[in-house]
Amino acid sequence: MSASGHMSGTYKSFGFTATMVKETGFYDVLGVKPNVTADELKKAYRKLALKYHPDKNPTEGEKFKQISQAYEVLSDAKKREVYDRGGEKAIKEGGTGGGGGFASPMDIFDMFFGGGGRMHRERRGKNVVHQLTVSLEDLYNGATRKLAVQKNVICERCEGRGGRKGAVERCPSCRGTGMQVRLHQIGPGLVQQVSTICGACQGQGQRINPKDKCKACVGRKILRQKKILEVHIDKGMKDGQKIVFHGEGDQEPGLEPGDIIIVLDQKVHSLYTRQGENLVMNMDLQLVEALCGFQKPIQTLDNRTLLITSHPGELIRPGDKKCILNEGMPMHRRPFERGRLIIVFSVTFPKENFLPLNKLEELEHFLPKREVSSDPEDMEEDLYIYADLEDYDPSRHRRYYDDMEDEDYHSGGGVQCHTS
Ligand SMILES: [Zn+2]
Ligand SMILES: [Zn+2]
Repeated sequence: MSASGHMSGTYKSFGFTATMVKETGFYDVLGVKPNVTADELKKAYRKLALKYHPDKNPTEGEKFKQISQAYEVLSDAKKREVYDRGGEKAIKEGGTGGGGGFASPMDIFDMFFGGGGRMHRERRGKNVVHQLTVSLEDLYNGATRKLAVQKNVICERCEGRGGRKGAVERCPSCRGTGMQVRLHQIGPGLVQQVSTICGACQGQGQRINPKDKCKACVGRKILRQKKILEVHIDKGMKDGQKIVFHGEGDQEPGLEPGDIIIVLDQKVHSLYTRQGENLVMNMDLQLVEALCGFQKPIQTLDNRTLLITSHPGELIRPGDKKCILNEGMPMHRRPFERGRLIIVFSVTFPKENFLPLNKLEELEHFLPKREVSSDPEDMEEDLYIYADLEDYDPSRHRRYYDDMEDEDYHSGGGVQCHTS
């Protein structure tokens, strides 16, 4: 998947990556860098939107709105380009042709977490979204989890009426309109009409006499109830994947209930990283193993032991990638097919002075010959300047090497494979 074709001018030289944007406010709100990919952006939004949703964090409405606006802009390639070039001001001035306004945070949320294509609902209660933390092992092997959720259900005792049959009466304060009109004098002979929601009935236009109120729900018509959901995590499911329980959302009188939507959130694994259907791991070899061959056991996610074995005569360089077929992630709904396990090698060199100098000369006999003579005797005295090598400490210089690790994994064209 490409990084949504934005025009922010990413350039790279000597391991220094920078994305030139006018300002980073929207990126900061989502806690991402300006070179974020579309997938990373989705993940950042997902986590923050769930954390700051008014259902869970009623006092953080402003934060929820900011997250939503930042995501709305950055997830749209055109708007992101406008923002990168001109900042928030350019977005507000409507350089996108869309009038420059923002959609409501709830609409953005509903579109993102929408319950399986049933978006054209009118008389439905709202969906409830829960995040479920899972391990990579759960996604590999499949798992069943019990999840306790709180939801609104219609009070059974009063069948959602809030009181005895016939106990509902027109609100005397607003005479059933739900609104109260006040006259407000704003100057001599000038009166303004101000309508507000009726405080006595909260805009409902009706009320229940306190002595007739249902004892179970105290007239609220609904009750908070704990429900245990059994969540089946299939083999091969992905981080961010949704599992929808149709009609299990909050109930409200007169509305079809919404859905409960479970969003999987995968924990970082200590050994494996998932890339689509593939698993990626790092393996560190000693120099002798890299040169002379090796056998190393690794533990799979279903607790088998694979003995990783190099071919005789094969030599591993730092950064080499090899792969093992059918040891990646199972495919969702086709669990007998699996991706690849990609191993990225690093090589640990021996410590300084691991050999006495005379032994080093011996070692040199076995190594490929030097290309250029290193003997200064062969050179004219005035043609060279001695230059000492010092240890390099990046913190003593400007921070050039900040992002140098970024693209190491993406560009490794031509992964070689052999079967296990
Ligand atoms: Zn009741
Ligand atoms: Zn009223």
